[in-house]
Amino acid sequence: MSDERGGGPRDGRRERGGPVAGPTPEQVAHELTGRVLGGFAVSPDLDAGAVACGACGSSAPDLLRAGDDVVVAYSHYEGRTWEPVAVRCAAHAVSRLTDLDDVRAEDQALIRAVLEPTGYRDPLGGEHPDALTLGGVAVLDCSPAAEGYPD
Ligand SMILES: [Zn+2]
Repeated sequence: MSDERGGGPRDGRRERGGPVAGPTPEQVAHELTGRVLGGFAVSPDLDAGAVACGACGSSAPDLLRAGDDVVVAYSHYEGRTWEPVAVRCAAHAVSRLTDLDDVRAEDQALIRAVLEPTGYRDPLGGEHPDALTLGGVAVLDCSPAAEGYPD
């Protein structure tokens, strides 16, 4: 006469009632892998193969280069394009979007990646053979737009 109470699935996760359908971490990692690191808010030096950590500042002597670990916050701009909004070096890395000042009420994702010197061919045909792209993408945190501001 064992009275096991393990019949139902133990659900440690909180189910949300509404249709909160942000991109899954797998989709985010897939979309961002191999992508050149640059956008409206992040201006890499495509030809030098370098990008600045937002916390170090652009005048830092040690720009991030191929082989360096980075943490990048992305915003799903108008639900269509992933735009990098913040770059952090390993020393300034964060593990949650709320640790950054750049969180907005959009789908956002925080990833860790390794900079790779894959190169980039821009939409106008310009070639940047030393431009940095993202490899080994791991999603650290996701913030669906529906969550809005955390505070
Ligand atoms: Zn830094």
